[in-house]
Amino acid sequence: MNDYSKLIFEKSFVNGEWINESDSKFEVINPFDLSVIGQVYNDDRLLVKKAIDVAHSAFKTWKKTSVKERSILMMKWYDLIMQNKIEIATIMTLESGKPFAESLGEIDYGANYIQWFAEEAKRNYGDVIPGFTSEKRIMVLKEPVGVVGAITPWNFPIAMITRKIAPALAVGCTVVIRPSEETPLTALAINYLAHEAGFPKGVINTVVGTNASEMGKELCENSKVSKISFTGSTTVGKILMQQCSDSLKKLSLELGGNAPFIVFEDADLDLAVKGAISGKFRFSGQTCVCVNRILVQENVYDTFVEKFTAAAKNLKLGNGLDSETQIGPLINQKAIERMNEMIQDAISKGGEIKLGGNFVTPQFFEPTIIANANSEMLFAKNEIFGPIAPIFKFKTEEEAIEMANDTIYGLASYFYTKDLNRTWRVREALEYGIVGINDGLISSEMVPFGGVKQSGQGREGSKYGMDYYLDLKYICIGNV
Ligand code: ADP
Repeated sequence: MNDYSKLIFEKSFVNGEWINESDSKFEVINPFDLSVIGQVYNDDRLLVKKAIDVAHSAFKTWKKTSVKERSILMMKWYDLIMQNKIEIATIMTLESGKPFAESLGEIDYGANYIQWFAEEAKRNYGDVIPGFTSEKRIMVLKEPVGVVGAITPWNFPIAMITRKIAPALAVGCTVVIRPSEETPLTALAINYLAHEAGFPKGVINTVVGTNASEMGKELCENSKVSKISFTGSTTVGKILMQQCSDSLKKLSLELGGNAPFIVFEDADLDLAVKGAISGKFRFSGQTCVCVNRILVQENVYDTFVEKFTAAAKNLKLGNGLDSETQIGPLINQKAIERMNEMIQDAISKGGEIKLGGNFVTPQFFEPTIIANANSEMLFAKNEIFGPIAPIFKFKTEEEAIEMANDTIYGLASYFYTKDLNRTWRVREALEYGIVGINDGLISSEMVPFGGVKQSGQGREGSKYGMDYYLDLKYICIGNV
């Protein structure tokens, strides 16, 4: 095994230093075998407040640095992450259970946000507007919002951080990160590499601890924070929005999904099966764009179920560190209980298990396919976040669209067809922020990622991603 231990740190990083205010520790658990891979100081609201103070004071100078200066630092950080890719991927797999190949892929994906915004920051153009009277001259400038609080989940331990803080840093904001208590080690490792790259003290701070609600409250209620960027559940997103209302903080929210995957009768079924396998079972179904409901037109339903089941049968479960592994363990006990509940509920309502349905060891759940799914079942309305694939049947295009939109969520959606006109009709009708057509792989730093309805607000990545960390300042020069 590589020497990943050189990148294991077990304290918060604030103002350029490893620091702990608390003496107690919490264990970071490997979900594969429940072994302890780290003992991290369990910090709380007090240290979050301290981190906000230093980020606030660092903002005064960081915002005045030239965009080239910031861009060069970000590229150095990008390089360091890529140079330590194997070690970081190992830490990520150990604390999240993610198959190693997927961890490597996530490091590319996460680092690409840094590279993209290091380049994009140079194009943070303002505007000149014609004066509304002859002696006026008018400009619009874009300025960094200030201190950004980033609250992130465990399922993408790097990418969910970089996709928030890269645009923030690029435009001159400073940041306080509160990573998930399930995956603090990856977050601390990349903060260390940012420090090595030469970011000034106080510009990037990471506070680790298990008291998510109190730490979140400090970020939301502290008047020195200008913006919160959150990825996680819709339930927590709503709490944060309420907490931010008093100070009217800006918010970006990337929340839950209930992705439909529609297979029309004219689709290339083999392509659809391939897309459904990766769209459903990537990271054991634990991503917010993972397929939640597979909707198949009635006359290709049986063939699709058969081909999909045959393909899913071959998925290999195991330790994420084994290169053959395609399905790792679920993140924690709560996830396993949710799978069990959903399966029992589906069976009691007429669901037919075509594959899987069982635990392999306490941490693993088999890739599971349930035919005869219907709208009464729990997964029709709720995010599965695990390797269960329910397959629903529909008759007409209108019915498929109605079923697809029958949810409070609106993040990712997918459909497969070879009919050009249908392609346009369906993509216009889907109430989703992301539509994959004949394609299940839709994530990249170059595209605007985000949802509508209760899947959140704001977009991350692409040329649009920087706007959420900027304020417009209108300048009126009179009596020229
Ligand atoms: P998930 O089910 O993906 O863990 P959550 O929304 O529960 O989704 O968690 C996402 C992130 O938000 C995690 O880092 C978690 O610790 C944090 N979190 C959970 N509850 C709160 C809260 N009340 N305030 C702030 N952060 C929270």
